[in-house]
Amino acid sequence: MPNSDQIVPVECSVDQQIQTIINDHVIYTTTDLKGIIEEVSPAFCERSGYRKEELIGRSHSFLRAPDTNDTLYDDLWTTIENDKIWSGEIKNIAKDGQPYWIKCKIRPLFCNSGNKIGYIAMRDNITREKEIEEYALVDEVTKIYNRRKINQDVSIALERYKRYSTPFSLVLIDIDYFKTFNDRYGHLIGDKVLIQISAFINTQTRQSDIFARWGGDEFALLITNSHSHQAAILCEKLRRTVAEKVCSTLQAQFDITEYISCSFGVTSIETDDTLDTLLDRTDRALYLAKERGRNRVEFL
Ligand code: GH3
Ligand code: MG
Repeated sequence: MPNSDQIVPVECSVDQQIQTIINDHVIYTTTDLKGIIEEVSPAFCERSGYRKEELIGRSHSFLRAPDTNDTLYDDLWTTIENDKIWSGEIKNIAKDGQPYWIKCKIRPLFCNSGNKIGYIAMRDNITREKEIEEYALVDEVTKIYNRRKINQDVSIALERYKRYSTPFSLVLIDIDYFKTFNDRYGHLIGDKVLIQISAFINTQTRQSDIFARWGGDEFALLITNSHSHQAAILCEKLRRTVAEKVCSTLQAQFDITEYISCSFGVTSIETDDTLDTLLDRTDRALYLAKERGRNRVEFL
């Protein structure tokens, strides 16, 4: 429906009218050089749920969603401290605890003498678009991320490695003899096993890691900021806990005798790696784990 609010003529300058319109519609803040908020628009207050007095004098970082990757903020500060404009998507937490997404553009502000005095950040609310986008990145059965999501994030990790040498590891995890399990107990119980194993592994990873269903009974784990020995320790812990604790919980829950375990193929990023070489090495490591007896971790 077209919106046709009546505008009441006001007695103030065009500049003042434009400023009022900007304040009402543009979600913006200005900060000092350290990111301490100095000015906020009413539109920003409306979106965040905070009053102006609750925002001024505080660091922007208090709005930050806890699952945001540190590298995003490292990149942001490196860009603006070098007097460049930073653009990107940020997840914040509103006063009522609900997350919201903004598309943000941050640029430096200079005084008359040319010295930098702070920054201005202008934002578009993209929460709805992000919700739709996130829905498309979730696996229907297990409710963890899907292959599309982890592929995106591995590509981003690869770019960061090329730019900043930030290491990472990639793991492929496959349930052992799952076809036999399904044949014996049926797909419905098979699905519940998939859900519980994935939910368990998901709780064991850091917020900055990405755990996803790769397809069928196979999962992928991107361990950010990690070298090979850290990845190997985590995978060995996951392997043991699945084969012991998770297995006995599932046996009791579904009254089954079958052992449940997973095989792990692990690799860490190497110079000259591409997405294809990285995936190929991880796949070969998993194949090795299967070939050498299953319920084991192999590193390549
Ligand atoms: P292994 O990996 O140890 O070599 O043997 P496997 O029997 O697990 O072999 P494979 O990984 O090739 O088989 C995957 C099986 O996973 C086939 C299918 O029965 C089962 N599977 C795949 N997707 C689903 C699913 O969505 N639900 C259920 N219940 N089972 C699935
Ligand atoms: Mg399998």
